Amino acid sequence: MISLIDLLYKNEDLEDNLLLELITHLDADTAPYLFEKALEKKSIFYKDTVYMRGLIEFTNYCKQNCNYCGIRGKNTTVDRYRLSKEAILNCCEEGYKLGYRTFVLQGGEDPFFTDEVLVDLIQTIKESYPDCAITLSVGERSYESYALLKQAGTDRYLLRHETATKSLYESLHPNMSFENRRNCLFTLKELGYQVGAGFMVGLPNQTPTDLVADLRFIKELEPEMIGIGPYIPHDETPLKGSKGGTVEETLVMVALARLLLPKALLPSTTAMGTLDPKGREKALKAGANVVMPNLSPTDVREKYELYKDKICTGDEAAHCRQCIEGRIKSAGFRVDMGRGDHASIHIPEEASSVQIKL
Ligand code: SAH
Repeated sequence: MISLIDLLYKNEDLEDNLLLELITHLDADTAPYLFEKALEKKSIFYKDTVYMRGLIEFTNYCKQNCNYCGIRGKNTTVDRYRLSKEAILNCCEEGYKLGYRTFVLQGGEDPFFTDEVLVDLIQTIKESYPDCAITLSVGERSYESYALLKQAGTDRYLLRHETATKSLYESLHPNMSFENRRNCLFTLKELGYQVGAGFMVGLPNQTPTDLVADLRFIKELEPEMIGIGPYIPHDETPLKGSKGGTVEETLVMVALARLLLPKALLPSTTAMGTLDPKGREKALKAGANVVMPNLSPTDVREKYELYKDKICTGDEAAHCRQCIEGRIKSAGFRVDMGRGDHASIHIPEEASSVQIKL
């Protein structure tokens, strides 16, 4: 195991059969070495920095029916909400005051948010906060739509590929196309977005071979960001009662992603914190370098329930900001409130949030 980890560290790649061997044979004795090497690799590009993003969950309406997701359209028990433009701008204002310089706008695939509505929203946020990066995460849209949103000022787009195995993807996503999801990711890249792909760990019927396929896909796509989180069952979905992923197996995937794509921005996800009070700290120590505290108004937090027992649903934005900062520091890292672009991107000084020295 140790020599395989060293080889991966050195080459930043490993043949699929060796990745499979790692995934299936790592244990409590050898995994810590993998995490150590992943952290070492991360430090080369990002030192001890952890970037903060302000997350705004602005609509839980969704026309899709992903079998794992709590806000799937067919879940009639969800109390649906969509934030007004004013409410979203208020979140940004509060976030800006708290120091955030990236806003992540995430939601279900809500037909209310047409290109026109989203373009207006993005332009207004950009005019008010030109020094901030905007990340959108609103699912699959057309080439034209992605182009318009980019033109309006969107910097980044998160669209997890969810799983790189066609049969597994299709079994989880009724009426969605595996090819289209991948095409969306390639389109977003082509349009110049900083792109976030990613996948869930511990999905029903997912095998170690599927996870190798996920790693191979991200190695090929080379996204700037990779969101990896454990699948957590939700009672109001067709997958109710399934087992779900563990923190340990997710940590292994985070660390492997770091070693395969050393410069990637890797979030330590809320789902990790949900499974284990120290889950997010553990992810940071296994090579993650981004956290996304919630900026959504407290009265809608509980309604954006993708999975069971999601944490922090009652907390004010300022509380989340402080809580996560404390966790980052206690894990031995330094908070960076800047835009936090990918290591390969040079942002002109005046557009970035360089700290002014007095
Ligand atoms: N509509 C957007 C945002 C989806 S929610 C899109 O299509 O990209 C963001 C992510 O939450 C999803 O991509 C999925 O990977 C994750 N997610 C959804 N349900 C989940 C669950 N039950 N457990 C863990 N993660 C889940």
